[in-house]
Amino acid sequence: MADADVIVVGAGLAGLVAACEVIDRGRSVLIVDQENAANLGGQAFWSFGGLFFVDSPEQRRLGIRDTHELALQDWLGSAGFDRPEDHWPRQWAHAYVDFAAGEKRSWLRERGLQTFALVGWAERGGYDANGHGNSVPRFHITWGTGPAIVDIFRGEPQPDVRAFLVKAAWERREDAVIPFLAEALNDDAEEVWQEALDGLVAFSSQESLELLQSARSRKFKDSAAKRFHLWLEEAIQQVQFELRAKAQFDTRPFAKITRKELKET
Ligand SMILES: Cc1cc2nc3c(=O)[nH]c(=O)nc-3n(C[C@H](O)[C@H](O)[C@H](O)COP(=O)(O)OP(=O)(O)OC[C@H]3O[C@@H](n4cnc5c(N)ncnc54)[C@H](O)[C@@H]3O)c2cc1C
Repeated sequence: MADADVIVVGAGLAGLVAACEVIDRGRSVLIVDQENAANLGGQAFWSFGGLFFVDSPEQRRLGIRDTHELALQDWLGSAGFDRPEDHWPRQWAHAYVDFAAGEKRSWLRERGLQTFALVGWAERGGYDANGHGNSVPRFHITWGTGPAIVDIFRGEPQPDVRAFLVKAAWERREDAVIPFLAEALNDDAEEVWQEALDGLVAFSSQESLELLQSARSRKFKDSAAKRFHLWLEEAIQQVQFELRAKAQFDTRPFAKITRKELKET
């Protein structure tokens, strides 16, 4: 086990932000998680990425009048803290609204994160300042999704993190990421090109097939070449199989395809 000044348990957003803070102070950090590296980010991997900011420039540009007091009133109105054991959740609400009305936006922007100019109204609740939920729009949507991932990928030195980013890109199933997967096929690290192969198979489109076929000319310096070509040919076969099956299903009603034909496909 490596030495570190600080150990963070949990590689979700809270743990990763804590790790950033430790690194920014010149200390080393070890992050441990019950899950493997493919699940880096915890719930945030699945989340929509909407950010709660209070009185942001985006809100002001849209004429939304928001204040720290209003946001805190909304939070306390929704939470209804009225028991002794609500002490710490109440402290958390105060701290989080301070953060969301303060350094949260600039902290994220310093790290390259930007948001759409439109602000959404999630958890709208009771529609007014005394009811449940947000009384004004505060849901800021992360700018960039795919391209932002690609930029981070290109500068990322850790192969397992690059592999994670490739997975995050293809699991969204947007055709726009297919060229990115082709780029990742050229990565030196085996876990990265394997993930890219999985992604191109998951798409199983004519475009992904052509990109896989053109990867046959990829040159390797080391012994990974044999494994790459084995995996690549398997991926090509799977995509061809999927495309043939799709063509059958597209032209005839499902009920008319016999079991024998399916086997032959
Ligand atoms: C589908 C979905 C959509 C969402 N959309 C939004 C949104 O748009 N906006 C928003 O603000 N929020 C959203 N959220 C909520 C947001 O993603 C979470 O609040 C946030 O990511 C939680 O971060 P966390 O670090 O506190 O916890 P987690 O992400 O849960 O991380 C905890 C980590 O600790 C690890 N762990 C737990 N126990 C142990 C243990 N004993 N030992 C080792 N490791 C352990 C877990 O494996 C995990 O990696 C969404 C959530 C989901 C699921």
